[in-house]
Order: sequence, then C-alpha cells, then structure tokens
Amino acid sequence: MKRPTILVLGAGYGGLSTVVNLQKILGSNDADIILVNKNDYHYESTWLHEASAGTLSPEQVRYDVSSVINTDKVTFVKATVDSIDVNTKKVGTSAGEYTYDYLVIGLGFEGETFGIPGLDKYALSIANVKAARHIREHIEYQFATWSTEEEKDDSRLTLVVGGAGFSGIEFLGELGNRIPVLCKEYDVPQEKVRVVCVEAAPMVLPGFDPELVKYAVGQLEAKGIEFSIGTPVVEATPEGVKIKKGEEEFEFIKAGTIVWAAGVRGNRLIESSGIENMRARVKVEKDMRAPGFPDVFIVGDCALMINEEANRPYPPTAQIAMQQAVTVAKNIAALMTDKETEEFVPSLKGTVCSLGEHDAIGDVMGKKLTGTPASIMKKVIDNRALYMIGGIPLVVKKGKFSL
Ligand code: FAD
Repeated sequence: MKRPTILVLGAGYGGLSTVVNLQKILGSNDADIILVNKNDYHYESTWLHEASAGTLSPEQVRYDVSSVINTDKVTFVKATVDSIDVNTKKVGTSAGEYTYDYLVIGLGFEGETFGIPGLDKYALSIANVKAARHIREHIEYQFATWSTEEEKDDSRLTLVVGGAGFSGIEFLGELGNRIPVLCKEYDVPQEKVRVVCVEAAPMVLPGFDPELVKYAVGQLEAKGIEFSIGTPVVEATPEGVKIKKGEEEFEFIKAGTIVWAAGVRGNRLIESSGIENMRARVKVEKDMRAPGFPDVFIVGDCALMINEEANRPYPPTAQIAMQQAVTVAKNIAALMTDKETEEFVPSLKGTVCSLGEHDAIGDVMGKKLTGTPASIMKKVIDNRALYMIGGIPLVVKKGKFSL
C-alpha cells in the first residue's frame, strides 16, 4: 500500500510541534511527512516584542528547523505557500505544487487593521523576525537622525503603540527599558521622548484581573508611558495618527514611529482555500479538522475554537497552538490506522504578561503574581516552549536564564 503523504504548512508553534509529535509517533516507513515553511528557521513569535524593541537580538529569537526535525522521517522544504485548494487537494508553493493525503495548516497570524485608513501603509507590525528587525532599526534611526538634525523635530522621538492588549503591553514593557538605553547612546534627553499607547476599548488588557492590570499600568506609567484609552485610531498618515476623543473631538499625535499591535487574524491564504472561515480563521471540529474536509487539520492561530463556558473564542496563543499540535498528530496517526479521532481539550495553565525583562503580571493556576515571581514564571514558560520542541539542547542554546 502507498505510504500516505502528510503535508504540514508552517513551522510555527502549531506546525513545528505537529511535526515533532508526528516524528515521535510514526516510524520511518509509515508516512511521507513534508514540512513547508517560508524560512529555514522557526521563530518564537512570543518573543518578537523583545526583538522589535531591541532588548533581545533577532538571532536569539530563532533557530534552524533542521535542528529539531528527524530528517529520516521528515522532508523539510523551504518555500512560500502561495495557494491552498482543498477541493483539488493542491498546494501551490514557490518550490512547486504539492498534494497530500493529510494536510495540516499552521500558517499563523497576520495583523488586523480593521480597515482603518493608512495603517497598512504607515504602521509597523510585530509580525515576524524581519518585521521585528525593521521596527528596531526604524526606532534607532529616529533617535540617530534626531541627534544630527540642525532644526530638531521632536516628533521623531514620539512612538505610538496601537493596542493595549497582550502584545501591545508586552512591547511597551520592553520600550520602557529600551528608551533610557537609546537616550544614552544617541545623546537624547529622555524628556523629549514620548511613548503613547492608544486603545479603542475602554480598558487595558481585557480579560486580565483588574488588580493586575492596575499594577501593569502603574509600572508602565512610572517608566513614562502615556495611555490614551477609549480613543480609537481613525487614520494613520506619514506624520502620525488621528485619534477620536469624543463625538466630534479628534486629536492628531505627530509621531516618528507607529506600531500597530491591536488585533490579529488568520493567514489570508485560508480565505481562498475553499474552507469556510471568519477573518481567515476556521471554526474547527472538536478533533481539529476543517468542517467538510476530513483530511484537513487546522492548528494554531488559523483555528477558531469556542470556549463554551465563556461563550467566546479561545484567544490565539502559543500555549493552545502547541497543545492542539499534540492532538492533531495523534489524530492523523489514528486516521491512518482506521481508529477514532480524539477531541481537543485545552488545558489552560494561566497567562503571564511581561512588562520588561524583570517585571510581569500573571494569573497562573488561580494564583496572582506580579514583579520578580511573575517574571521568573514567564521565563519558565518561554523555556518550556523550547523544551517541548527541541528538548534540553534547545533550552541550553536559546533559553532565558537571567533573573
Ligand atoms: P506562528 O507561530 O506565527 O507560525 C506560523 C509559521 O508559518 C511561521 O513560521 C511563518 O513563517 C510561516 N508562514 C506564514 N506564511 C507562510 C507562507 N505563505 N508560506 C510558508 N510559510 C509561512 N502566545 C502565548 O501563548 N503567550 C505569550 O506570551 C504570547 N506573546 C505574544 C507576543 C507577541 C508580540 C505576539 C505577536 C504574539 C504572542 N503570542 C503569545 C501569540 C502567539 O505567538 C501565537 O498565538 C502563536 O505564534 C501562533 O502559532 P502558529 O503556529 O499558529 O503561528
């Protein structure tokens, strides 16, 4: 009998974890496992805010896919996926066309700009390693050119961060630590620098415990970060952003840097794949399959799952993506041997939001944490993600150990 082809798209938390789990479960002759990813490296998306602010080197955030896959069992293809057609079972890539017996789509997230004019063009987004490098260099460039200008334009030193959700707050935490370093390096008086967080919703970090949110806002404000809450961005221009402050009241914030961190959607390739979706996310069956396509699994941020207790979708997180991957791998192995698939049941251990290298807030197994204990917990979580994919050697190579 012909060996089935398992085609996995994306080497992020979801896709790479699926492959690592498949290579544990399956023997070398059980299936042809093909992993397609844009780059020959995996990046820790959950660390991108650090690389973007410049508090962690982009090199530290990524590692080679080849270092964690078993090449006897998995063929890695460095290529960009251009199209997915689940009706004809064809996947178009820059390295040619592929077909499959089982498909796993783990192509991750894209920034959502909600149609706000100018954001696509003038705002930067913490999307991947290249984007993070761009943000870091853009900020440094603003500082460097300000210091050489004859007639100084202080708005170069204003940074607007759109979104007071998880990634926005984590990025602000890093900026809070990075700005004093940049000021010293480029001889910029710190009082000239403005960092403004603009949020449309009436609160910071929705879903987090209010006491922890109060702590986070206090810590960030102490580092000079300003918050403009309940004031949606209505337009971005090359000079800055226009925000709505009241019924007919608007303010223009002139800024040299705009970073948009206010929402994500699934990968746009889903929209033309033939699978029903909402903002490129697929409301998956309980066993992680795409509705109507029993040979297609969706993992990570492209999957949408409803938390029935809370009656809203689970947030797109690395924690969930990696747990889903375990179920997806088991379910593919089950289908290959005509067994029943199992349901995916998330096991949420809590959330920790970093506020810079040595500070954080967390709600872990019902326990509220702030400051150093929360920050240590964040590093434990980061190192655990490395361990789950690459074991101890990867933790030793890329782990976070400073307290
Ligand atoms: P990704 O990890 O994004 O991987 C997608 C992969 O697909 C990438 O390797 C990409 O290169 C590849 N790819 C994309 N398009 C193509 C294409 N066309 N062709 C080929 N390859 C392609 N979650 C947490 O649980 N905890 C946190 O603390 C946390 N912090 C975060 C902080 C920030 C700044 C950000 C941005 C996110 C954070 N998240 C956090 C969310 C988490 O990063 C995502 O939920 C997670 O990365 C989703 O995993 P994924 O496998 O779906 O996608």
